[in-house]
Amino acid sequence: MAKKLTPMMQQYFSIKNKYEDAILLFRLGDFYEMFADDAKLAAKELELTLTSRNKGKGKKTPMAGIPYHSTESYIATLIEKGYRVAICEQVEDPSEASGLVKREVVRVITPGTVIDNEFLDDKSNNYLATVTAGKNVFGFAIVDISTGEFTVTELSGKRAAANLIDELARINPAECLIDPQIYQESEIVTYIKQQIDPILNDIDERFNYRQAYDLLTDHFNVSSLEGFGCEGLDLAIEAAGATLDFLIETQKRTLNHLNQLSTYSTQDYMVLDANTRRNLELTKTIRDQDYKGSLLWVLDQTVTAMGGRKLRKWIEQPLLKPEEINGRLDAVNEIKDNIFLKEELKELLDQVYDIERLIGKVTYGSANARDLIALKSSINVLPKVEELLNNFSVPKLQDLKGKLDILEDVHSLIEQSIQEEPPVTVREGGLIKMGYDEELDEFKKAMTEGKDWITNLEQQEKERTGIKSLKVGFNKVHGYYIEVTKANIDLVPDNYERKQTLSNSERYITPELKEKEAKILGAEEKSVELEYQLFTGIRDKVGNETKRIQKVADILARLDVIVSLAEVALNNDYSRPAVNASDVIEIEAGRHPVVEEMLEEENFVPNDTYADCDQDRFLIVTGPNMSGKSTYMRQVALITLMAQIGSFFPAKNAEIGIVDRIFTRVGASDDLTTGQSTFMVEMNEVANILNNATKNSLIILDEVGRGTSTYDGLSIAWAVTEYISNPNNIGAKSLFATHYHELTELESKLAGVKNYNVAVKEEGDDIAFLRKIIPGRANDSYGIEVAKLAGVPNPVIKRANQILDKLESESDNYQRVNEDEPVERIKESKNEEIVKDNKQKKDNLTQLALFNPQNAEFLKELSD
Ligand code: ADP
Repeated sequence: MAKKLTPMMQQYFSIKNKYEDAILLFRLGDFYEMFADDAKLAAKELELTLTSRNKGKGKKTPMAGIPYHSTESYIATLIEKGYRVAICEQVEDPSEASGLVKREVVRVITPGTVIDNEFLDDKSNNYLATVTAGKNVFGFAIVDISTGEFTVTELSGKRAAANLIDELARINPAECLIDPQIYQESEIVTYIKQQIDPILNDIDERFNYRQAYDLLTDHFNVSSLEGFGCEGLDLAIEAAGATLDFLIETQKRTLNHLNQLSTYSTQDYMVLDANTRRNLELTKTIRDQDYKGSLLWVLDQTVTAMGGRKLRKWIEQPLLKPEEINGRLDAVNEIKDNIFLKEELKELLDQVYDIERLIGKVTYGSANARDLIALKSSINVLPKVEELLNNFSVPKLQDLKGKLDILEDVHSLIEQSIQEEPPVTVREGGLIKMGYDEELDEFKKAMTEGKDWITNLEQQEKERTGIKSLKVGFNKVHGYYIEVTKANIDLVPDNYERKQTLSNSERYITPELKEKEAKILGAEEKSVELEYQLFTGIRDKVGNETKRIQKVADILARLDVIVSLAEVALNNDYSRPAVNASDVIEIEAGRHPVVEEMLEEENFVPNDTYADCDQDRFLIVTGPNMSGKSTYMRQVALITLMAQIGSFFPAKNAEIGIVDRIFTRVGASDDLTTGQSTFMVEMNEVANILNNATKNSLIILDEVGRGTSTYDGLSIAWAVTEYISNPNNIGAKSLFATHYHELTELESKLAGVKNYNVAVKEEGDDIAFLRKIIPGRANDSYGIEVAKLAGVPNPVIKRANQILDKLESESDNYQRVNEDEPVERIKESKNEEIVKDNKQKKDNLTQLALFNPQNAEFLKELSD
């Protein structure tokens, strides 16, 4: 028989029913309690003790609690694990409540709606992404509610789905809202499922164009969305509207800091697919997902969190217009040339707090007085920044200066009102300066006078009674009292009333003392309350200036990035690229920005590059393993990318003709999450390149056709080379590192193909890597020499050499493949098949031995 629940548990379950997908933190006095399944889950995830309490007649409900003052780390853990947390507060004073205290959910925190600094990484954004789908069109909205950034775009055309995945990879959202329509796009759903956890299987109603339009125009207080550039982009509007709807529902407050919706087009930026971002290690390394070792790590000398986030965005969205890029380069150049001014700027920026996120906290009403002081001290540097910027003449810096608002009014408001070193809490006074509010000053005066009177009282009563050890004290329970030791009790005057007896003394009060006490405590209570009122008023006033403060934050972030790029250019001896709309990439003495920083003893060997869309469009790079082929090719890609973000770069000199995309097919990594084989992953990447590259792209191919038999692999590599190098198909500037030395034949057969190799010095049986890229094909693959360098035991090396000699003497009838019909020809030629098969065995031998020297015996058998 079901037992009746207590009223409180009824209240709990009625609220919980509305927040089934969240863990409900139910405020009970000094604790947030969780019940039933939530309690079990939280006990497991947070390692809390699970208790159970009698909540109805005989009915036991599991329960777990966390103290109200230390919820942050618990909530952070739950959010990190992908849960949503609903905070349910007591919304009336329990002492004034008649019956059950009223409770309401005041906010739902989800992975994509975190604003608290404690949970966030300073130098990355925390995005919530929303995706809507139509016929070959997607709407995509992203919001970071900790900074107020809210942007939207539409992706359409043949590549719409792939573009959307690229955007998701760039944004790396913490959470995703998706239109149920999207379930028809399995590719996207698979991507989201793999990369983002959790996906919200959201209700259909949220995705409704009309509703979205009204919600947005209402929120931004505009009559149309024309001004935001998205009028007419129905799916984009639907996505933005769904985002806002979700935020209003979960955050339960007006989000004043989301005061702008900007529409962008992916066509304004260089396209970088998810693979390329990963392969070029833009913001983290492939192997360890480390920041150290990424391009961002080399370029980031920013001193503000906002600058750090901005630089990350610049790296993830290289530009396409030479004038914009040169605008940035001019600014970097001028700051770089003024070392002293640069240092001064950096010192000023160093004093700036994360005002972009501070203003978010102001909107949320969670900013405390210390946050306002941090805002004030950040604003403090603005006049000096403005003055410094006067020294620069390039348009970009002039423009930043022209737009810089020094926020004098906000500064003086905080300066006049908020104490310099206020406490963390805003509920216990000590926030507001004297002179800001007359009424408050009166209370404070009353408090000081009362306290002075009490201080005097001690002296006065000592003299009057002759009790030298008489003391006036205060405690929370009894208030002010006069304390007399037991030895002096006889001297106590008549007007003292005994209040409390201790082991060695008695405590007394007098009517006058109580009267003063009432005044002091009354004034104190009123002043604390008034201080809180005044503080929230000041915070609201600051909140009214959100838009202006956000603009300042943006300018400081840009400045910080430019200063950082100038700093890195100086420290790392970078030079300024000539960026233009030509189709040439010419690099003199280029270096790999990250590898050169990671090398400890060796010096990095610089290399030249020349590629265009004419006679030098397809560069085949051969050379032994570990000789530096990948490094060289990536360096070309990274230098190009750096130029297009407006950075100086590691080279003596360079001309970079803008590229529309960089493609990379690098390394072999099994994608275990999708269960795809190395070969399949590789072919997906190749397909993506062949289908999407244009003449203006830059393609980096690091081995193609490795994960299959030599014949298949060579055939594919050969056909890919033909296809890409042909201007009727693609004709893009490409660099291709390969083990298939046969491909070097193509130099003489195909227009635009050029051979390069990495120079190696032979010293008897040993080789030394020179790291120098020189024209021409490599003579040998030196597999066995490299195996030796890697520490494969001598007997294996010796035996491998014997086998190699034998194989080579058998290959007399080796014929070159006919380049006109490469694929068919290879398959036809039986003789070649045998020779190549032997060669493949040789490769296998060294490769396997490299991985596991213990295989020597098995390998011996194989080669026999
Ligand atoms: P490959 O692709 O030919 O197998 P890598 O490009 O991976 O070779 O280079 C192997 C290692 O050689 C790199 O990790 C780096 O330490 C070093 N290296 C590569 N290029 C250079 C260079 N130009 N100068 C100095 N060291 C280099």
